[in-house]
Amino acid sequence: MKRRPLDSDRTFEHAAEFRFYEELNDFLKPGQRQRTLVYRFDGHPGIKDPIEAMGVPHVEVDLVVVNGESVGFGYPLQDGDRVAVYPVFEGIDISPIVKLRDKPLRQIAFVVDVNLGRLARNLRLLGFDTLFSNAYRDDEIVAISAKEKRIALTRDRRLLHAKAVTHGYWVRSVWPSRQIEEVVRRFDLGGVIRPFSRCADCNGLLEPVGKDQVADQLEPKTKKYYDTFYRCPACGKVFWEGSHVEKLRERFKGMFPAAAP
Ligand SMILES: [Zn+2]
Repeated sequence: MKRRPLDSDRTFEHAAEFRFYEELNDFLKPGQRQRTLVYRFDGHPGIKDPIEAMGVPHVEVDLVVVNGESVGFGYPLQDGDRVAVYPVFEGIDISPIVKLRDKPLRQIAFVVDVNLGRLARNLRLLGFDTLFSNAYRDDEIVAISAKEKRIALTRDRRLLHAKAVTHGYWVRSVWPSRQIEEVVRRFDLGGVIRPFSRCADCNGLLEPVGKDQVADQLEPKTKKYYDTFYRCPACGKVFWEGSHVEKLRERFKGMFPAAAP
């Protein structure tokens, strides 16, 4: 049997040093986190390639600095380069430095992967335009994200490596109650929470509706204790203050004092 050469048997022309910052370390193998990594290579690949080869999706990266200067994803890697890779900064002003995208993550609309249904509902309850279906295939999510410039939210890192995805985020937490906090923090959404503007079921825009118009759809207790109602014109679902949204609002008031509606 012919022996296949091991990777370590190969010799490479060049080497460069990489350092990944903050949560980008989540994508690296445990032994590679929070330290300088030597990357060996031939030729001069665009810098996006080694970054992705090390496991970091390009959509998670907002700034690449080589030898002290910011570069674009197409920068051809050179022997001896010292590379620093930073995640998307929201809330930290780095405007003097060139970012990789003109308008990073400023359009707040989401498309959510199939196993994150609770997160999708919670985003809508907070008023965010969120597409979700438990029938979406990976390529559909990628296509919707690219076409409608929606931020793709997923627990599947591979999805974020798709070339067409320019805005995406790998949701770290496996707990739905933490996921909504994680996304609100990550995209700095505390100031733009708008409860009672979106239907949790279908993403439709809610309209205020008189109590008398929905009385026949309400449980006796709801009818007794609540007076302010909203209806989704798309699917007919009725929402009222005091529901799940109130609990979310309370939680976010604590997290984001300035954001309390
Ligand atoms: Zn609806």
